[in-house]
Amino acid sequence: MESKKFILQEKDIPTAWYNVLAEMPEKPNPLLNPATKEPLKAEDLFPVFTEEAARQELNDTDKWIEIPEEVRDMYRIWRPTPLVRARGLEKALGTKAHIYFKNESVSPVGSHKLNSAIPQAYYAKKQGITNITTETGAGQWGAALSLAARHFGLELAVYMVKVSYHQKPYRRSIMETYGAEVVASPSMSTKAGRKIITEHPNYQGSLGTAISEAVELATTTPNCKYTLGSVLNHVALHQTVIGLEAEKQMEMAGEYPDIVIGCFGGGSNFSGITFPFLRHNFSGERNTRFVAAEPQSCPKLTKGVFQYDFGDEAGYTPLIPMYTLGHDFAPANIHAGGLRYHGAGAVVSKLRSQGFIDAVDIPQTETFAAAHLFARSEGIIPAPESSHAIAAAIREARRANEEGTAPVILFNLSGHGLIDMAAYDQYHSGDLADYEVPDAEIKANTDKLDKIL
Ligand SMILES: *Cc1c(COP(=O)(O)O)cnc(C)c1O
Repeated sequence: MESKKFILQEKDIPTAWYNVLAEMPEKPNPLLNPATKEPLKAEDLFPVFTEEAARQELNDTDKWIEIPEEVRDMYRIWRPTPLVRARGLEKALGTKAHIYFKNESVSPVGSHKLNSAIPQAYYAKKQGITNITTETGAGQWGAALSLAARHFGLELAVYMVKVSYHQKPYRRSIMETYGAEVVASPSMSTKAGRKIITEHPNYQGSLGTAISEAVELATTTPNCKYTLGSVLNHVALHQTVIGLEAEKQMEMAGEYPDIVIGCFGGGSNFSGITFPFLRHNFSGERNTRFVAAEPQSCPKLTKGVFQYDFGDEAGYTPLIPMYTLGHDFAPANIHAGGLRYHGAGAVVSKLRSQGFIDAVDIPQTETFAAAHLFARSEGIIPAPESSHAIAAAIREARRANEEGTAPVILFNLSGHGLIDMAAYDQYHSGDLADYEVPDAEIKANTDKLDKIL
């Protein structure tokens, strides 16, 4: 019988992350201080981030960065994750394509986010930090960081966007189960929060406000640092365990992917699955196609501009060279909350501008149809975010059918959807809509940006 899953042993958990920055043909443009427009140095990031995270953020020389033993030890709770041949899905599609997925949904919190939460908490602990803060929208990052903070004995305060705090009580319960303090944002506990509540008493919050609150707490509390779950280089670096494992597992399967696909929010899971394969494109050994799957309602890679922009809505972060829809772009309230982000990380953006990466944007209803086909053929109910990668894989398989080809397709299943069933309910009752962003809206938003690039 042919294998369904390709399983590595604990000893095969990678010992180093792959730092794509060291090998990119052209380095990404630097992060800039928004006031002076000068490139940032690692020291400039120390007040906000842990020193190790700040150094990794700007490290463009070391190709491999060692994974600390304490981090690998905790990875052992669920890593290595399985690589699965989606034979059920192939059959349902009647395709000759070989479809594989890397199953990151088996982590205790149900997504890939724990891969970076653990090292970030570990570096804080090692530096003698006692408290960390972050913000969370739908709650996946907050849940992952809560578990990591607990493991390393850190106190964690999570600012959760108020509307999600009330609409997604179970992710809040998960964070509280691990011992985190979850605060609905805007809150009265920070200056930024008090200001907004005073001006708009019924404001239901946004990620921008939650970031401002978390950064304010980190910079005004002794021994406290801020952490971020996507977008930044060090987060993408940590996620490369996904692709490094997948590379070995594809070898076990006796194949090499022609197409690698990841859904795209800020870019961390996409970077994680693709960068280790991309290095063989740099060297000319391979010619794999990399496809980022983003929502039609938040199409930064397919319709945004490549320009310096802020990472947050409020404009507190450094200026990041990114594909962006403008930092005050307000995406429609789709269910894939983790993909509702206006920009893309600096590395992915540079790679896209140089033609190393393709992107597709997918309507919400198509992603839910794909999720159903996947659930019914493979058994796993995917996260609405991950369903974008599934939908993109299905498009590739269908195209292969039409063209009479049989490519090897690999996608990342970034998480399961068992805490997102309200979204599935809405799809079942026919209440889900698609949102295409008018070009004029994107132009109006991006015309406001300083044209630095
Ligand atoms: C957060 C999240 C994403 C999007 O974030 P990236 O940084 O782009 O990976 C995708 N899938 C799941 C399950 C998530 O929790």
